[in-house]
Amino acid sequence: MPKYYCDYCDTFLTHDSPSVRKTHCNGRKHKENVKFYYQKWMEDQAQSLIDATIQPMVGGKELLITQNGTTYHIRPLKSH
Ligand SMILES: [Zn+2]
Repeated sequence: MPKYYCDYCDTFLTHDSPSVRKTHCNGRKHKENVKFYYQKWMEDQAQSLIDATIQPMVGGKELLITQNGTTYHIRPLKSH
């Protein structure tokens, strides 16, 4: 029987069956991991966007922007 790998929890379920998967996906830990996973992903997206758009505008300065409780770090451009 193939094992089911849960990306969010970074773990293998020992048995892969619809009921095992359902139980796992309804678990509190899994739901927290899913939430965390997407939160992290959103933060990464926001940080990339900041790096690509805002950062060139602020030049060589370092800035911290806090939005919805998350602090984004505006890094100075690396000089080539
Ligand atoms: Zn999971």
